[in-house]
Amino acid sequence: MTGSKAKVGRVFSGARPTGRQHLGNYLGAIKNYVALQDDYDCVYCIVDLHALTTVESTEDLRQNTYEMALDWLAAGIRPEETIVFVQSHVPEVTELHTILSMVTPLGKLTDLPTFKEKARMQPHNINYGLVGYPVLMAADIALYKADLVPVGVDQAPHLEFTREVVRSFNFRYNTDVLVEPQMKATEVPKVLGIDGQQKMSKSLDNHIELAATPEETRKRVMQMVTDPARIRRSDPGNPDVCNVFSMHKVFSSPEEVAMIDVECRRAGIGCVDCKGILARNLNANLEPFRARRLELGKDPNMVWDVLKEGKERAQKIARQTMAEVRQAVGLP
Ligand code: SF4
Repeated sequence: MTGSKAKVGRVFSGARPTGRQHLGNYLGAIKNYVALQDDYDCVYCIVDLHALTTVESTEDLRQNTYEMALDWLAAGIRPEETIVFVQSHVPEVTELHTILSMVTPLGKLTDLPTFKEKARMQPHNINYGLVGYPVLMAADIALYKADLVPVGVDQAPHLEFTREVVRSFNFRYNTDVLVEPQMKATEVPKVLGIDGQQKMSKSLDNHIELAATPEETRKRVMQMVTDPARIRRSDPGNPDVCNVFSMHKVFSSPEEVAMIDVECRRAGIGCVDCKGILARNLNANLEPFRARRLELGKDPNMVWDVLKEGKERAQKIARQTMAEVRQAVGLP
């Protein structure tokens, strides 16, 4: 698929620089990012400034940005159509953040469940950035005049907040300069980690990296927790409560899924064999990604060149928006 098809609007999405991506990142976001390119002008941002609100150390920030961008490109993000860039490379966002903060009631920010949760998680570091996080997010979206933002149902209140901020700005300054973004409701599957309990996450070390070797992948799959009630090989299992089966539904053929669904329930297949099939299918699915990642990674400048070009294209939009915003506000 190339850029020949007419696009029907601009999509914006941002993600923190978390380094090498895992299956949860892929199924929850990247897969959708790739698909959206067919119909929309997409702007995908690596939000390093947002990361500063919670990271203790910034020494991995550059490498994590590189690895994440490389994974995005290897997975099928097309930089010749899509703008891929780093948030801090376009500093206009911080100016818009400041301006939008003047139309945002403080009480509203401190009442948001996400702020309360973050404050609970890092009571030693409740910084101003944590409070202003949703305003910076609104600035990200408004700066690029996004028509649509892909969000899962649980993220809908965040987008609603952005819409309110945009409305407040336009009302306060009697303008229509900023675009009220619409929600592009997206089904974000909850991908559990290999512990079968919690969401897949690097910090919990329950993840499977997209760029892991086939051997590493197999090892991680073999560690996956299955139906906890199935203790012995002769016990019938319940695939409905097994995370291995959930993964089969994504990566295995319908015939294999149907076979496991039946055989697991009558103890016709053991968990070791079942995981072996999953590891094989997962590796086969990831093979084209890994080959492309290897190829792209041969030129260490390629990712930074893509991000630089993305910065230039993003900044062109950002500068235009800020000229309009400054005029609307009446800044001298
Ligand atoms: S056989 Fe497969 S689906 Fe059934 S419990 Fe074991 S790993 Fe899960």
